[in-house]
Amino acid sequence: MPETTSDQGRVRSLDKQFAPFITAGELDAAIQRLAEEVQAKYQGRRPLFIGVLNGAYFFAAKLLEHMPELECEITFVKVASYIGTSSSGTVTQLIGLNERIEGREVIIVEDIVDTGNTIAHIMGALQEHHPAGISVATMLFKPDAYSHDHPIDHVALRIPNAFVIGSGLDHDGLCRNLPGIWRIIDEHA
Ligand code: 5GP
Repeated sequence: MPETTSDQGRVRSLDKQFAPFITAGELDAAIQRLAEEVQAKYQGRRPLFIGVLNGAYFFAAKLLEHMPELECEITFVKVASYIGTSSSGTVTQLIGLNERIEGREVIIVEDIVDTGNTIAHIMGALQEHHPAGISVATMLFKPDAYSHDHPIDHVALRIPNAFVIGSGLDHDGLCRNLPGIWRIIDEHA
């Protein structure tokens, strides 16, 4: 378990320390606002949400909880990356997509978009199945780190370029269960 120190409510995980950044209440309010936006946009279109495991389990559950009036489906995929033989280097494969997405509205559900490389690979892999449309809903977005042109359609909260944990986001597999979002403390600052 992460160890909570008495020092201003900080959390220590392995060799790093984290400070409170976004409370669980603030995060939930932001997710609710986003859910209302998505629910209105996709009314009558029966979209398929595709959550990207492991990190998106928390956000996907909260997002759908806040859109009870939308007729929709949800499924989850995992991303496997390996070094391919092509010059492009890393090849990304989606594991677990059993639904037919041809002609359907698809919404990728991510915990966080940083450089955008992961989401770009996922969109590329999904495009091969000819959906009617693909959009992205993410709990957190780091605009200063983002290095792609494709707009990130639905964002709950924009954050600065710092490593964060909690609410599904991990530190070496740990800390996904911390409520709210915690920001790493830069020991050299
Ligand atoms: P990207 O490909 O956009 O650079 O990064 C996407 C993935 O990197 C996320 O799905 C997440 O797994 C991981 N990631 C990026 N930034 C953070 C962060 O601040 N905290 C944590 N825990 N994971 C991050």
